[in-house]
Amino acid sequence: MKIYNTLSGQKEEFLPQGDEVKMYVCGVTPYDDSHIGHAMSYIIFDVIWRYLRFKGYRVKYVQNITDIDDKLINRAERLGVSISELAKKFTDSYFEDMDALNINRADVYPRATEEVAKIIEVIEGLIEKGHAYAASGSVYFRVNSIPDYGKLSHRSLESMVSGGNVEIGKEKENPMDFALWKAAKPGEPWWQSPWGKGRPGWHIECSAMSLKYLGDTLDIHGGGQDLVFPHHENEIAQSESFTGKKPFVKYWLHNGMVQLGGEKMSKSLGNLITIKEALGKYGADAIRIFVLSSHYRSPLTYSEEVLEAAEKGAERLRQTARSEGKGEKVGEGMDFESYRQKFIEAMDDDFNTAQAIATMFDMAREINRSADEGLEAGEARATLRELAGVLGLTFEEPKPPDIDIESLQQLLISINQWLLLAGLNEIPVDKIPNDVESLMELVSSSRGALRDKEQWEYADKIRSRLVKLKIVLEDTPKGTVWKRKR
Ligand SMILES: [Zn+2]
Repeated sequence: MKIYNTLSGQKEEFLPQGDEVKMYVCGVTPYDDSHIGHAMSYIIFDVIWRYLRFKGYRVKYVQNITDIDDKLINRAERLGVSISELAKKFTDSYFEDMDALNINRADVYPRATEEVAKIIEVIEGLIEKGHAYAASGSVYFRVNSIPDYGKLSHRSLESMVSGGNVEIGKEKENPMDFALWKAAKPGEPWWQSPWGKGRPGWHIECSAMSLKYLGDTLDIHGGGQDLVFPHHENEIAQSESFTGKKPFVKYWLHNGMVQLGGEKMSKSLGNLITIKEALGKYGADAIRIFVLSSHYRSPLTYSEEVLEAAEKGAERLRQTARSEGKGEKVGEGMDFESYRQKFIEAMDDDFNTAQAIATMFDMAREINRSADEGLEAGEARATLRELAGVLGLTFEEPKPPDIDIESLQQLLISINQWLLLAGLNEIPVDKIPNDVESLMELVSSSRGALRDKEQWEYADKIRSRLVKLKIVLEDTPKGTVWKRKR
C-alpha cells in the first residue's frame, strides 16, 4: 500500500511502526456550524480509517477540539454568551453532522481547555532545551534553534522572512518565532502558568495532545492543505524539539480544498455551504460519493449539478445492492472477485477513491446485467455492500429534502396577483403562514379556485414552480395531494 507523504513529496510504501496505526487529525474550532470543507476532510480521513481496518490494522485515532481561540473569544463576546457555552453548542452541532454523514467517532477527542497542564509541561521542556523563551508573559518558539524549520512546506526560513507575511511583535527575537503561550489580555479567559496568567497557542495544543494520547511518533497525521504552513510546520518544530526524536510523523496527509464558483470556500469570502444545509437537500451517501469521486489531494468543486448527479449515483448503487432478485441458474454467477481486486488496487494506490467508486459502478452494471440474464448475483451484491461499507456508504434511503419555506411564501405572493387578475379574493399578506403544511393548504386551495375559474395557465404555473421546490402535485379522485420528491 502506497501513501503520498507531503514531507517527502512522494508516494511511499506504508510501513507503520506496529500493528496499531497511530493516527491524528486536526479537529475543529467550534465557534460556528461546520461546512462542506469540514465534511470533505473528515469523510476522507474516515475512509482512510475504514480502509486501514479493512486491511487488518488496528487504528488509534485522535482528533482535538480547539475550544479556546481568538475566534471563539470574539464570537462569544459579539453574541453575549460564555465561551464554554458557545464551544459546547458548536461541538454538539459538529458531532451531529459527523453522525449524519456516517463518520465514525475517533477514539479520543481531547479538548484544549482540559489539557493545559500537559501543554505547560511541553512548553517548559522546550524552554529548558533552549528552543523557546519567555517575553512579557508570553512564550515563543525560537525557530533559529532548529536547522530544518520549513521542511514540510518546503520553504527556507530566509524566504519566509523576506516574504513579508510575518507576525509583528517587538518581543520576538525573530519575526518567524511563534507563540506557544499567550499572556492574558484584559477580559480574556486565562490559566495560571509559570509565566503568569495566559492561554495556550493553537500549534502547541496538537503537539501536546498527540504526545499524550499517541506517544512520540505518529504514523499518520492528517488535515487540510491549508494547515501545512504554519500549523503543521510548527507542530513538527515543537514535537521533534521536545522529544529529540525524528520523525514526529511518518506520513503527512493533506486533503485539497473545497471550491465554490471558482473560489475557495471560506468564511471570509462568505461562500460557505454548511453541512446541515447540504444534508437538507442531499443524502449522506450522495455527499460521500461527491467527496470521494475526486482524488483527496485535488480541489473539490461544489455545485448543485454535481451533487444531484451523486444523488442519482447513490440511488443506482443502492438499488443494485439492496435488490433481492434471485437468479435461477445457480452456480453460474458472475466473476465479482476481479472487481474486489480492482477496488483494493485503487485504494492501495494512495487511496484512489475515485477509481474505487468507478469500479463499484462498473460492478453494479454487471450485476444488473447478470440478474437480467437470470444468473446468480447474490454473492456479488454482498461484495458490493462490503466495498460500500469501506467507503462508509450506508445505502439507507435518504430522508426527503427540506422544503424552502421562504420560497413557498414568495409563491403565495405571486399567486395573489393571479387571483386578483382572475377576479378572485387574494390572501391577506398577514395571513401567510410559516409552516409547510399550512402554506401548501393555501397553495392547493388557491390553485383549485383558479382551476374552477378555468385559469389553466396559472394553475400550471403553480405546478411548475412547485416542482422547482421539490414538491409534486397529484390530482386524485379525492382531490389534489402533494408530495416531497428528491
Ligand atoms: Zn493541529
